[in-house]
Amino acid sequence: MIVDKTRRAALERRVSGELVWDNHTCMPLHHADERFLPQLESCHAAGIDLITLNVAFGATGIERPIRMLALFRDWIARHADRLCLVTSVEGARAAKKAGKLGICFDIEGMDAVADQPNLVRLYYDLGVRWMLITYNRANAAGGGCLDEPDTGLTAFGRRVIAEMNAVGMVLCCSHAGYRTAREAIDTSADPVIFSHSNPRALWNHPRNIPDELMRACAERGGVIGLNGLGVLLGLNDASIDHFVEHVEHAMSVVGENHVCIGLDYEYDQAGLAEMVASNPHLFPPEHFPHGSTLKMIPPWAVPDIAEALEKRGCSAQTIGKLLGGNLLRVAEQVWH
Ligand SMILES: [Zn+2]
Repeated sequence: MIVDKTRRAALERRVSGELVWDNHTCMPLHHADERFLPQLESCHAAGIDLITLNVAFGATGIERPIRMLALFRDWIARHADRLCLVTSVEGARAAKKAGKLGICFDIEGMDAVADQPNLVRLYYDLGVRWMLITYNRANAAGGGCLDEPDTGLTAFGRRVIAEMNAVGMVLCCSHAGYRTAREAIDTSADPVIFSHSNPRALWNHPRNIPDELMRACAERGGVIGLNGLGVLLGLNDASIDHFVEHVEHAMSVVGENHVCIGLDYEYDQAGLAEMVASNPHLFPPEHFPHGSTLKMIPPWAVPDIAEALEKRGCSAQTIGKLLGGNLLRVAEQVWH
């Protein structure tokens, strides 16, 4: 991978030296498939310092996340000269200083905990740093964003949140229903995040969130991560300018201290289209109509996001917060 040093230096200047963190990125979840993993180096070459890699979503059970953690951790260990498993904020800063890409993990949905909340600690020990409650549809923990009605956070969901608070894992409310998210924000002792959700005020999609939910999250110290998928930005427009409009709206609602990025880039785009088509319950065609034409912003476009924010008048200090600093603050507060 050829590193464009000029482009990296420009990003470094535009974020005032802050650590750059894309908080959600998605490889195909096949434990024997390493084809896409070399692309992590494209993220690093572009100037990303830390990336949160998804290991499971939906009705996953325990085996899938464990197998994916085994694959990714093994890959990181075999590329230790360039990659580094990040489990602490100090570790993230040290990885950046050493010129390595830091990697931590996320799980989309408490199905991964099955009926055993103490699995949260095992996942945490393996490098999982955030987990969401439900994935679009209800599970044992709560309601999904596609459920009508959303019957709210369950007693089991509250037990898992208590375990996450005890262990230091960040709770994420993306993909959850409104009521479940609202109750989770009130239940969690720590700040919660929406790792990859856009403002519904700009694009009315059930995966996006209304301003009042963003405010409730920010009031408790959390952050809202803007998503780079065209289906959530609106009209399948994944241009940088359109993305920055979402960033600006979020900042106008919750201020510059509560906005970050979780681009949700899908490396296996053909696999994604197939998976969406074969799971209409999770991805109803009226809400996910784009198939293989879905546009998305890759992590290696982060330097362009920084440049666009600068052109719109954001200071380097503000851009640094948006592209990493705000997430680091939450991690400092929540991770043990
Ligand atoms: Zn997601």
